[in-house]
Amino acid sequence: MSGKNILRITSAAVLLALVFSLFAFPQARVDAANVSDSKSKQMESDIQKLKDDEATVKAKLASLKSQEASQYEIKETLEEEIKLKEEEIQKYNDLLYELGISIQNKQAEIDYKSAECDEKFEQFKKRLVVSYEEGQQGYLGMLLSSESISDFFINAEMMNSMLEYDKQVMQDLNDQRKTLTEEKEALLDDQTKQEQYRNDLSVAEKELENKRAEVNNLIYQLQRQEKDAESKIATLQAERKKADDELKAYLAELARKGGSFTQGKLDWPISAQSPLYNYISSPFGNRSYKIYNRWASDFHLGIDIAVRTGTPIYAAGDGTVVKAVYLGGSYGTYVTIDHGGGVATHYAHCSSLNVKQGDVVKRGQQIAVSGATGNVTGPHLHFEYRINGNVVNPLEGGRVSYPNPLVYW
Ligand SMILES: [Zn+2]
Repeated sequence: MSGKNILRITSAAVLLALVFSLFAFPQARVDAANVSDSKSKQMESDIQKLKDDEATVKAKLASLKSQEASQYEIKETLEEEIKLKEEEIQKYNDLLYELGISIQNKQAEIDYKSAECDEKFEQFKKRLVVSYEEGQQGYLGMLLSSESISDFFINAEMMNSMLEYDKQVMQDLNDQRKTLTEEKEALLDDQTKQEQYRNDLSVAEKELENKRAEVNNLIYQLQRQEKDAESKIATLQAERKKADDELKAYLAELARKGGSFTQGKLDWPISAQSPLYNYISSPFGNRSYKIYNRWASDFHLGIDIAVRTGTPIYAAGDGTVVKAVYLGGSYGTYVTIDHGGGVATHYAHCSSLNVKQGDVVKRGQQIAVSGATGNVTGPHLHFEYRINGNVVNPLEGGRVSYPNPLVYW
């Protein structure tokens, strides 16, 4: 803001110097080509300095804008990472849930089998005790009670298969013990895995928390930048309104001197030889536009012709240059021509001027070179048609003969 004030004060000083030199040296216009005059040299260097300052401010703004854009990109990337983290956490939670159920089932099975094993072992032991107690008499008695040799062999066979059976029971019990040990080891593995998942989960949750904090911080910064952008836009629009009010009052004052407008249709201010001479990047009237990454709306006082910097600008009709100002606020470097009878045309955002205040100009005479000075987002000619100071649409009412076709961007 203070930079802009300095700009405005300095440009007012340049304007004063210009006016002063016109009055002090009535022949100044004739001598203008002779840049031997030290005042004129001083003026040129002042203008150059203003242009440099403006270029610096614009470059700073552009860099701020691209920084903000990259912050939005970072925010989007972070939000994607958060989504992935949340999915990862969900995955761990699912795994832990499944593992928890599996561990529970395994534990229950092991408990059941252990009890079964213990039970079988107890029964086996009881049976062995009984066999042993009865054995001395039992097995031997069984053999001795044999009534024949063949009976004896049958009894011996029976005894043998009873021993076989006991052996088998022992073998089975042993196998079951082994299986149980393996299952217990598998359960331990699962429990270790569970612990690992829990650790991974808490790491992921910590990371998620950090990322959320990062995003919140970014959002806070962006909101601050947006507030800042809003106030900048308000300042720009106030500046634009001020420029309009001043020009309106000035031209209305001129119009009071009377006379009538006799020139009919005015000419298009850009030659058909120039690139983009028929491209309208912003029409007259209400419009929305994007600035500082935000949408703003206002009433556009003229039409924007999208010519590149360095394109010659011609007087739309005969008249007198009533304003020729370098870097005068939102209009930048501009020319205003009074065509008589309250009609005036206005050419803004020029890079340089070919005329001075008070010059009498002819229709089609070059008056300026287009540029991107003042409040612009890119090079163009802002062209206004005013009647008694009030803006009207140059493309309506047969006021200006425009190229066919007109192309709207
Ligand atoms: Zn404009």
